[in-house]
Amino acid sequence: QAGPMTTSTIPPGSSSTTSPELAALAEAVARRRNFAIISHPDAGKTTLTEKLLLYGGAIQQAGAVKAKGEQRKVTSDWMELEKQRGISITSTVLQFDYAGNTINLLDTPGHQDFSEDTYRTLAAADNAVMLEDAAKGLEPQTRKLFEVCRMRQIPIFTFINKMDRPGREPLELLDEIEQQLGLACWPVNWPIGSGDRFRGVIDRRSHNLILFQRAERGRASEEKTLSVQQARETGAVEAELLDQALEELELLEGAGADLDLELVHGGELSPVFFGSAMTNFGVRPFLDAFLELAQRPAARPSSAGVIEPIRPGFSGFVFKLQANMDPRHRDRVAFVRVCSGKFEKDMTVQHARTGRAIRLSRPQKLFGQDREVVDDAYPGDVIGLNNPGMFAIGDTLYVGPRIEYEGIPCFTPELFAWLRNPNPSAFKSFRKGVNELREEGAVQILYDIDESKRDPILAAVGQLQLEVVQYRLEHEYGVQTRLEPLGFTVARWVLGGWPALEQVGRIFNCKTVRDAWNRPVLLFKNDWNLGQLRDDHPDLELSGVAPVVSGVEPIAL
Ligand code: GDP
Repeated sequence: QAGPMTTSTIPPGSSSTTSPELAALAEAVARRRNFAIISHPDAGKTTLTEKLLLYGGAIQQAGAVKAKGEQRKVTSDWMELEKQRGISITSTVLQFDYAGNTINLLDTPGHQDFSEDTYRTLAAADNAVMLEDAAKGLEPQTRKLFEVCRMRQIPIFTFINKMDRPGREPLELLDEIEQQLGLACWPVNWPIGSGDRFRGVIDRRSHNLILFQRAERGRASEEKTLSVQQARETGAVEAELLDQALEELELLEGAGADLDLELVHGGELSPVFFGSAMTNFGVRPFLDAFLELAQRPAARPSSAGVIEPIRPGFSGFVFKLQANMDPRHRDRVAFVRVCSGKFEKDMTVQHARTGRAIRLSRPQKLFGQDREVVDDAYPGDVIGLNNPGMFAIGDTLYVGPRIEYEGIPCFTPELFAWLRNPNPSAFKSFRKGVNELREEGAVQILYDIDESKRDPILAAVGQLQLEVVQYRLEHEYGVQTRLEPLGFTVARWVLGGWPALEQVGRIFNCKTVRDAWNRPVLLFKNDWNLGQLRDDHPDLELSGVAPVVSGVEPIAL
């Protein structure tokens, strides 16, 4: 029973029947962690990512550990628009080894005009790290992304950053998270002083101090560990600051909650860390605790019940499609999250939606602009597949008995605009571009119910998404387009479909459109108008996100 192959992910009693392959799979799963960082721009995500990678040795993140400017260039120069705007729109996946474990960091776009990509990346993550600026606390983008994590009930680790600068009271920051997000907090360490008088943290479980030593700007600070007694004897920390921190810690202990892993893994209790990414303070202790507390590659619901990662056959789903990452090749890449089994190069898999068998001969790992062919991958990993137009967001690939994972929901669009093609002779390219960009999930497409108005309505969660669509139509499909904004900000899908809508009769202050699956969608100028409809017709069931479809092909333009 004992031995290194026995891990908590192997169901009890299965060790006697475990083949060497399954044992190897179970070990690979036990050694994997995967997470995405959720934060508001400027909280320090790029900085934290760089520091995390420093601990990962130099494997496979080629080009990622660079000065910020350079890194941005490396990860994003596939698209001219990004260069012009100096931002990173695309998500990349970074993999690094630390303390014998393989960690996948699913990077999300950093710009505040973020898009659905950010949400979809969270669908592939098993854990989230919520990064806050200590001076700012909760910010709008963090809240939105938090909602997605909550929907998926994934563990959320909180890192309060920029402790080297004057910030808000730690207790107040935690209170904000508990009150406003309804997320209980369990500080794993507690700060001693702040700003100019930030002296380090006390590890709550060992009661050791980790001292912060100021280094030159941007340089790693040394972390020195000592006991409370040593700190008192050597006068390493002002007694007054130490007393205050200990007092606050006692207060927390008095509140009584335990670090309950079940609550952490259910996304109800957040382990909290204080640090300073820029000076590299608190990053290693965070990483160590994260490895200990994070959820391993998790089981997922599917059409055939919950699929465990140690299911022998490979399975995974497409969470993101991206075209033309490399302008020299004009190819498309499907990002697949491996959910179960071992993935091997040249494997033949089943494509659940079409029922076709596909040989995956050129799987890749992608690191910004750099790619390399992978030979194998395990649950929790992400692979890139060349996509000759056969993959769509949410598609399941599998080996063995048929399974299909739950689709990835589309997210509530907040911006709507007619997409006009002023040049009728370019219609064919226009149509091809619109259809492919929709299929890729670059934007949602709605249509007027008046069939004489054939132009598509773009529906996006961020302005940048609209610009990217226009830019790509021009540069990849050769069509110049015009956007005509519609003055709506709220969309609701009518769950009862057209019959339910007919029963209600005429609705005021609202435009009815249909989505690519010919389902009715209501557009409102604001929440107030939506509220009016709710008051008038409380029985009408509405959803802010499009219900997941499977097995039905959408209407093309
Ligand atoms: P992102 O937009 O979330 O990726 O944030 P960046 O990593 O680009 O950081 C935004 C700014 O905050 C940069 O000027 C960083 O140097 C700075 N910054 C990041 N972490 C820290 C920190 O721990 N302390 C201080 N003082 N500044 C930080």
